[in-house]
Amino acid sequence: MNNALAVPVLMYHHVSPAPGLVTMTSENFRAQMRHLATRGWHTIGLDALARFLAGEALPERSVVITFDDGYLDNWVHAHPVMAEYGLRGVIFIITGRIGEGPARQHASPGKVGAGDTAPTPSHRDCVQAMQEGRCDDVMLRWSEVEAMRAAGSFEFHSHTHTHARWDRIEPDAATRAQRLAEDLEYSRATLRERLGDASSHLCWPQGYYDDAYRAVARRIGFTHLYTVRRGACLPATPQEEIPRIVVKDMPAAWLSRRLTIYRRPWLSNLYTRLHPD
Ligand SMILES: [Zn+2]
Repeated sequence: MNNALAVPVLMYHHVSPAPGLVTMTSENFRAQMRHLATRGWHTIGLDALARFLAGEALPERSVVITFDDGYLDNWVHAHPVMAEYGLRGVIFIITGRIGEGPARQHASPGKVGAGDTAPTPSHRDCVQAMQEGRCDDVMLRWSEVEAMRAAGSFEFHSHTHTHARWDRIEPDAATRAQRLAEDLEYSRATLRERLGDASSHLCWPQGYYDDAYRAVARRIGFTHLYTVRRGACLPATPQEEIPRIVVKDMPAAWLSRRLTIYRRPWLSNLYTRLHPD
């Protein structure tokens, strides 16, 4: 088996039967995951990605599946598909928004339609619910996080504790760094308390970071920082600037074409230069 030259890190947010903003329909998500599972792709975790960036070999067709924020629909609609195909993904959770209570009803693998599953609102409705303090209606619960960890469908890492854009809230640089440090400390402490472990991987809210942000993250113990900058991971990719690929709500053929590009470093570099957005 050949070694991977580049590792694409895919970025998702929502999976739901109803299409919408930053939402993948269940149908397209299932088709995309089926494609990965049947075409010999290895879905790797963040420890393996870190080893690749440190120079260790990974098998060809290695890919990372990431979800941001930790929405309820990840459990209801994404988890059953991941479990069905034996795939592993990553959810970057906003630790302050994960709720308590029993796990809700998720979809049955392979069954078409929402059935009697927990309702999963659109992205806009999720944002509104969070603004109104109704996080539990739209975000994951710790019981669901634990169930996904136990099933091996997802691993969990930090997306900060509050998802606040401190650069927009705090004009004073020292106060801003202090607020961010507290945010990251809370997130790590929460992960440690709830999951028994807090990794050194951090995904920036809305992909925003600057040198001061990175210095704070480093001080708190985060060594691998995930952005929304486009491109594939190469062994030379800086671990504090990990690029990702926004996956569109499109059939498996779309993903297949993107993966063909992003697993080849020269093609990937050319493509991101020609399509810089
Ligand atoms: Zn986010």
